[in-house]
Amino acid sequence: MDCDLAIIGGGPAGLSAAIYAGRADLKTCLLEKALVGGQVSSTLDIANYPGFPEGIDGPQLAAKMRAQAERFGVEFRTAEVHDIRREDGGFVLQLQKGEFRARAVIVATGSDPKKIGVPGEEEFRGRGVSYCGTCDAPFFREKRVVVIGGGDSALKESLHIAKFASSVTIVHRRDSFRGEKIYQRQVLTNDKISVRWNAVVREITGDKRVQSVVLEDTQTGGTETLETDGVFVFVGTIPNTKLICSLVPKNCRGHIDTDHDMMTEIPGLFAVGDVRQHSYRQVATAVGEGATAAMAAGHYLSELES
Ligand code: NAP
Repeated sequence: MDCDLAIIGGGPAGLSAAIYAGRADLKTCLLEKALVGGQVSSTLDIANYPGFPEGIDGPQLAAKMRAQAERFGVEFRTAEVHDIRREDGGFVLQLQKGEFRARAVIVATGSDPKKIGVPGEEEFRGRGVSYCGTCDAPFFREKRVVVIGGGDSALKESLHIAKFASSVTIVHRRDSFRGEKIYQRQVLTNDKISVRWNAVVREITGDKRVQSVVLEDTQTGGTETLETDGVFVFVGTIPNTKLICSLVPKNCRGHIDTDHDMMTEIPGLFAVGDVRQHSYRQVATAVGEGATAAMAAGHYLSELES
């Protein structure tokens, strides 16, 4: 075996699992295809992570978690896992080049932004259409921006984008927000932000870059064109469950079911964070799930030995 425990994904859930497993003296490897941090890497101000009353910058938090895991001997590898299969009482991870063997696996592969699936969305991606306010807001200095969605991401990112843009119009399909009250208050009292309730974007249009969106009123069915320089889409996320689909096929369409120890129906295979059913999708809860899975993996491995 290359490791006792392989953790796939280096977001807060995976990093927390790595810290706990490393400290419990499990030979632990964390495989991440890009930079550690996951979605936290594109969040500049995490205001509700305990212990940081002034808030903390996401990339900084991820870097600290990585350093803590390394202190406990966790090995970090930059590698994309393409498949997982069971073999000889353990697991084989198929990488781009070669294979990797572990006795237990924690899947912490997170989620990707959901698309709205309208004409122009794909065409203008990177040319006015974005899914990351923290990354792209500075490109919209003194420009008009449309934000789609009514959850925490849409509200929080609108507040950030408004620091740069001349105006932000939030287009939401209902007449009330889903996001936290504190963000709602901040959005509704921000002079640069207005809300277009009961509306959806049916098309994104432009020439070389985005120039306008076609809005449809969800109550009347009427349409209108709204000029804009950018469109930020925050309509939720899709969990990256593809990797474990072959092992837990009945969960393939949604999130992954686990027991309270974060173990899937396959002994020794755990799922944590955004890929897991019932996860609250917060940094603090992801960290808790990672810690729980690492401790449960430790018990699982001890029982295997005995
Ligand atoms: P979300 O909570 O699922 O909200 C998605 C929003 O997009 C909803 O308002 C939804 O409308 C709307 N929507 C969905 N599909 C749409 C479509 N096809 N067209 C138009 N609108 C559509 O997603 P999220 O905001 O990305 O948040 C995901 C999770 O992360 C949540 O658990 C959230 O609490 C958490 N999060 C927390 C923070 C924080 O600072 N605490 C920050 C970001 C995210 P309806 O409301 O009508 O369903």
